[in-house]
Amino acid sequence: MGAEAAQVRVAVVGAGPSGIYAADELARLGLAVDVLDRLPCPYGLLRYGVAPDHVKMKSLEASFRKVLERPSVRFLGGVELGTAVTVADLRAHYAAVVYATGAATDRRLGVPGEDLAGSLSATAFVGWYSGHPDAAPVRLGPDVRSVVVVGMGNVALDVARMLAKDAADLRATDVPDDVLDLLARSAVTDIHLVGRRGPRHARFTTKELREIGELPNVDVVVDPAELESGEDGGPAPVADPVVERNHAILREWAGRPARGLARRVHVHFFRSPRRLLGDGRVAGVELERTVVDGDGRAHGTGEWEVIDAQVVLRSVGYRGVPLPGVPFDERTGTIPNDGGRVLRDGAVAPGEYTVGWAKRGPSGVIGTNKADARDTVALVAADLAGLAARGPRGADLAARLTGRGLRVVGWPGWQAIEAAERADGSRSGRGRTKIADWDRLWQAALSVPSTTDGRRAG
Ligand code: NAP
Repeated sequence: MGAEAAQVRVAVVGAGPSGIYAADELARLGLAVDVLDRLPCPYGLLRYGVAPDHVKMKSLEASFRKVLERPSVRFLGGVELGTAVTVADLRAHYAAVVYATGAATDRRLGVPGEDLAGSLSATAFVGWYSGHPDAAPVRLGPDVRSVVVVGMGNVALDVARMLAKDAADLRATDVPDDVLDLLARSAVTDIHLVGRRGPRHARFTTKELREIGELPNVDVVVDPAELESGEDGGPAPVADPVVERNHAILREWAGRPARGLARRVHVHFFRSPRRLLGDGRVAGVELERTVVDGDGRAHGTGEWEVIDAQVVLRSVGYRGVPLPGVPFDERTGTIPNDGGRVLRDGAVAPGEYTVGWAKRGPSGVIGTNKADARDTVALVAADLAGLAARGPRGADLAARLTGRGLRVVGWPGWQAIEAAERADGSRSGRGRTKIADWDRLWQAALSVPSTTDGRRAG
């Protein structure tokens, strides 16, 4: 495979977990890999999605860094598909392209009032506390005492925990100073997690659920009747150990006496949000009680209630965004593919592949993308002879882009951003803190020479 492999240059579009796992597998095949990202920073959802207090998960960065520091791998940041480069450019410069662009936006609830001020997608809220440069500032004024989080997945738990946690416990994380200040001044006392189905269908993983009950300043409020409800989807399904463990945790919480602590997290099952109430700004959520049928579908009962809230976080899942020039399945929000080979009009498009959430939708944990990347790259390996016949093609892409006056952030540029983040952190007596501002990211990235040549030339 060696001689063939040396001929093959591959572009991975997206430097998040799935892209980096794919780059790792491709490099192991002996291929030359460029990992492109529209941001000047790598790591995607690890940097901008994994909660800042999930330190163990964040430490995956060290192994991702090793991949991007491999001699045969380059990071090319600030290169957006659709603006800086087109699919045709990529096809001209690389024998193969792997789309690893994740699922960048939120799913909609589709209820009246969803666009009121104070109604935010979890994606926006997570982006804000993660210091994403595109994230709008979040308003958590002194009037915001009650927050409804719609959804019963791990993202819902992340945002609930970030709101419930004592801000002092976030000082050691990399959240930007202004985020920390706002959370420290937050007047939120009540966080309501709302699920349209019952505990059996909640999507949490156990470790994440348990964390909520371990917060020292937080009472968790669970109605025991909802846990034993006969309305949770007909006959018992095959025993699922995660569901059983989660159930045990919820039962333990339901039996805990309230301790009068500073904050409360309320867990409400069997409630479907039907309308966000408010005149210009969110003032509450109108919910309909539900029952779940034997097929696991929630149905309204005609019984209504309102939870007062000044902020609503819609945490009902992520969704893929179409990429210019790349096929897109509107129904699934993914790139149509056959096991990872991209399909154009139903036929395999030679040399185009996809991995991660762009390939299979927003499911699983970060590590799930490792096996997924391995599967896709196995197809690249199987196609290698044909791909080698196509490449190498055209001049070096980074050189061509910089020749056109575009700014491309190579590894030294990214390292300069990291250094600036460490300097920011030490100025406020903290560890490294995120730079959330486009101008400052670019300023740092372009403060070093050769940044446009990528790591190998730097
Ligand atoms: P998710 O696990 O798919 O959960 C989405 C939740 O939204 C579900 O409870 C779903 O309920 C609910 N929902 C969807 N549409 C709704 C509607 N119209 N009205 C009311 N509720 C609705 O999505 P996620 O929490 O965004 O997580 C995405 C992926 O990232 C998951 O695989 C997750 O495990 C992973 N993740 C992992 C971690 C971690 O490991 N720590 C952290 C964050 C995210 P139904 O079930 O009734 O549809």
